[in-house]
Amino acid sequence: MKQKVIITVAPVGSVPTKKDNPNTPITPEEIAKDVFECYELGASVAHLHARDKDGKPTTDKQIYGKIKSLIEEKCNIIVQLSTGSRTGNHFERGECIDLKPEMASLSTGSSNFSNRINENPPELIEFLAKKMYENGVVPEIEAFDISMVDNARYYLKKGILKAPLNFNLVFNVPGSMSGTPKNLLHMVEILPEKSTFSVTVIGRMQTDLITMAIILGGNIRVGLEDNLYYSYHDKKLGTNAMFVERAARIIRELGREVARPDEAREILQLGYR
Ligand code: ZN
Repeated sequence: MKQKVIITVAPVGSVPTKKDNPNTPITPEEIAKDVFECYELGASVAHLHARDKDGKPTTDKQIYGKIKSLIEEKCNIIVQLSTGSRTGNHFERGECIDLKPEMASLSTGSSNFSNRINENPPELIEFLAKKMYENGVVPEIEAFDISMVDNARYYLKKGILKAPLNFNLVFNVPGSMSGTPKNLLHMVEILPEKSTFSVTVIGRMQTDLITMAIILGGNIRVGLEDNLYYSYHDKKLGTNAMFVERAARIIRELGREVARPDEAREILQLGYR
């Protein structure tokens, strides 16, 4: 029996607005409502960003805490908070780790976004990793490029990261690695032994490459952080629930099963480190 497939939902991110897609959840209440709906449809991990009252990305611990507790009141989905470079400046990006979510994102290198640097200098990577392990938080390694996988291996060797690693391979962020089958295959082939991986694809190649990720034995991420359109030929806007529903359907059509949160905890070996 092949391993079950974990669906991560990324409901909001730092970029989309209601103007881009009116279904984008912005307030803690809206985000928690979407996450619960997606949990019921098969999502086992919620990758979360916070927005302030003006809808701008924020590292405000209180807002992160509100989102986290609203979700935890309703279900046992794995909460993963973002420490991404768009959320705020340097060390303040680690403040959400104080909330002790089960997981937090951690980029192991710098790259470009379309309009700025995705800035993750060595001292910040080391600071965030250390703080995560001290708080029992498992990092998800966000790799926007091949070098970030290599760098994660270097941090493993140095003892700054602890095996097994859970990667999120991110494709088609403008300015970073493009989403092609060859690139995905290569990224999977160079992962350190015993790593798990999830695949995130921005925009129209999402459905193609998450299908390939499932076939390769990986997990997948969907949601409005990554993709505003359910289909591109007719510019049909999506909702988080629609993306998760489609992801679950693809998993089942390929003869696989969707992992529930406790199964995902086992697959990702949370609590093992
Ligand atoms: Zn994110």
